[in-house]
Amino acid sequence: MQILVLNSGSSSLKFALLDPESGETRLSGLAERLGQAGARIRLDQGGAGQPERTEESLSGGSYAEAVARVMAELDALGVREEVAAVGHRVVHGGEAFAASALITPEVEQAIRECVPLAPLHNPANLAGIDAARTAFSDLPHVAVFDTAFHQTMPPAAYRYAVPEHWYTDYGVRRYGFHGTSHQFVAAEAARMLGRDPAELGLVTAHLGNGSSVAAVQGGQSRDSSMGLTPLEGLIMGTRSGDVDPALHDYLAREASLTLPEITAALNRESGLLGLSGLTNDMRELEAAAGEGHAGAALALDAYVHRLARYIGAMTASLDRLDALVFTGGIGENSSLVRARTVARLRALGLTLDDSANAANVRGQGGVISASDSRAAALVVNTNEELMIARQTREVVRG
Ligand code: AMP
Repeated sequence: MQILVLNSGSSSLKFALLDPESGETRLSGLAERLGQAGARIRLDQGGAGQPERTEESLSGGSYAEAVARVMAELDALGVREEVAAVGHRVVHGGEAFAASALITPEVEQAIRECVPLAPLHNPANLAGIDAARTAFSDLPHVAVFDTAFHQTMPPAAYRYAVPEHWYTDYGVRRYGFHGTSHQFVAAEAARMLGRDPAELGLVTAHLGNGSSVAAVQGGQSRDSSMGLTPLEGLIMGTRSGDVDPALHDYLAREASLTLPEITAALNRESGLLGLSGLTNDMRELEAAAGEGHAGAALALDAYVHRLARYIGAMTASLDRLDALVFTGGIGENSSLVRARTVARLRALGLTLDDSANAANVRGQGGVISASDSRAAALVVNTNEELMIARQTREVVRG
C-alpha cells in the first residue's frame, strides 16, 4: 500500500509517495511558484538516500497542472495502482476537528469555514485538495490537521482572558499548531525510551523556521506555545512570537502603520531575522555569532532565552517531566541551541551528556541527557509526511 501525501502552500505543492508502514519513499518533490511566472517542479525518485532528481518548468503553473505531473510520474513508475489514498496537510481545523477526517463535501465546507482563522494557509490547502480530488477522483482523500492534536488542551490552557463573546462569536482561543510533528515525536520518544506513552510527561520542542513547544502528557497535548495563529509563542525564523498585545495600537499611533502592515512585519520581518538584521537561518547565525556579529549573537541569546522560558512554562502543564524532546531543523541539528537551552534549565534538574549532544548532528536522533539528569533529553527526527500517511491509512481503514 502506498499513500500520496500532499502539502500545498500559497504558491507551492510538496508531495511524497510513501509506504505508511516502512516509511519508504518512492517519489517526493516540490512544485514552486504556482500561479506565478517561472513555475517549476522538482521530482525526486527513490527517497532520501540518493534520489534521482529531475527539474522541469510547469508552463501553466496551476495546482491542477502540478498534480497532473505527479500523476503522470506515478504512471511512469508503474505505481499508480498501488496508491490507496491521498493525505492532505491542512493547517487549521478550528474546533471542528480533533482528528484526521475523510474529506467529504461537508468536511471541505468545514475547512472553508476555518479560512478566517488561517487566511493564508487554508485557501491554499483547499486549492490542493480540489486539484487532487479532480485528478484522483477514484481515491479516498483525508485531511490531517495541524491543530487536531491540540484539541485535548483544557480550557485553562486554550482560553484567552478576553470578553467571552470573542470566543463564542469569533472562535478567539488558542489552537496550537505543528500537532502532527508533536504527536509523532512524542510517540517516537516513548519508543526510544522503551516506555509506555500513557505514562510519560513530555515537553516537545519543534524548532524549525516555525517553532513551537508542547506539553504532552500520556500521549495527549495539554498545552502549546502557539495560539489563535502560528504567530504566538517562541521566537521563530521571521515571526516575532509573543509581543505585548498593546503593540499594534502603539505602532499605529507612533509609526502610522496599518494593522496589515504590522501583522506582515511580525510575520515576515521579525524573529531571528528582525533581531539579527542579518538572516532567519540558524546555521548562518551561528557562524556569524562565532565571528563576532553582535546582532547574530543577540538573536541567538534571545531565541534560547524565550525557548528555555517556554520549556519551563510547559512543565507546569505536565504531571511530571520525564523527557524533553528536540526536533525540527534546529532541534535536530543544532547542538549549540540544545546545549545553551538545557544549560538554562538547571532548575528542572536537566543536564546534557556534552559529547552525546555534540555528536548528535545531521539527523541521527537519540538520548543526549547525562545519566544523572532528572529527566531525559532526546533528539527525535520528525517525519510529518510519514505521520500524515499513517493517519490517512487509519482513516481509510475505518
Ligand atoms: P525546518 O523549518 O524544520 O526545515 O528548519 C529550518 C531551520 O533549521 C533553519 O533555521 C536552518 O538554519 C536550521 N538548521 C538546519 N540545519 C542546521 C544545522 N546544522 N545547524 C543549525 N541550524 C540548522
